[in-house]
Amino acid sequence: MLDLNNKNAIITGASRGIGRAVAVKLASLGANIAVVYAGNAEKAAETVSEIEALGVKAKAYRCDVSSFDAAKELVASVIEDFGCVDILVNNAGIVKDCLVLSMKEEDFDRVIDVNLKGTFNMIKNVYQHMMKKRRGRIINMSSVVGLNGNAGQANYAAAKAGIIGMSKSIAKELAARGVTVNIVAPGFIDTDMTSALSEKNKEAIMGTIPAKRMGSPEDISNAVAFLASDEASYITGEVIRVDGGMAM
Ligand code: NAP
Repeated sequence: MLDLNNKNAIITGASRGIGRAVAVKLASLGANIAVVYAGNAEKAAETVSEIEALGVKAKAYRCDVSSFDAAKELVASVIEDFGCVDILVNNAGIVKDCLVLSMKEEDFDRVIDVNLKGTFNMIKNVYQHMMKKRRGRIINMSSVVGLNGNAGQANYAAAKAGIIGMSKSIAKELAARGVTVNIVAPGFIDTDMTSALSEKNKEAIMGTIPAKRMGSPEDISNAVAFLASDEASYITGEVIRVDGGMAM
């Protein structure tokens, strides 16, 4: 069984969906969790209670990861509260879907700022800390859309593909320091993000999934838990698709 006892993890976007499932899974393996959210304090508090019931430490932090200064302050607070950071899961993400024909510049920028720049902001602020400790796990949430593209998601695909290139670059920088950087690329997962899609869209997407079902947040959290563990110490710069075969 995977063991994350005495490890401290920062999970961004942990108030809901995939991030919450990741937070609860890592906590169930013994990790203390910094639950990062954007604005939904009530949902973040629910995640914290669920984690505390597992007998480990949890605290909620409000932070817009697209702000470098906010990310810096967040990491400093977590180190003060928990002592150190062993695991960083960059999961916070948003979509603003629309064809480029009518996509507004601010919708392109915001999706890049939260998904891609937010991931950079968080990594930059734990980089030296993990390097000095000579161990660490960074797991970044991409998407099958970052691998294959998707009409109506040029902004999101650019951010998610950017995460892959950035992660592989940082993986090369940090590998000799015992810090791994890996990427999870979910397919079509049952969360608030996908529940906003029309039934027609959902049906069309289902038709592209060989496994013939949506994924659950727990399908993703199982992969993240493995990448966060000691058992994955020789895996870095890897993209693990968790998509029922969608992007195969
Ligand atoms: P979700 O249900 O919409 O939850 C998004 C989470 O991100 C929430 O916790 C939200 O906090 C947080 N967040 C949003 N903007 C933020 C910001 N600026 N700073 C900090 N936190 C922020 O999303 P999800 O479906 O679980 O997706 C999680 C990740 O997986 C995303 O990166 C997404 O792109 C990726 N993904 C999802 C799917 C899918 O099918 N669902 C597929 C591929 C990839 P609040 O609750 O406070 O708003």
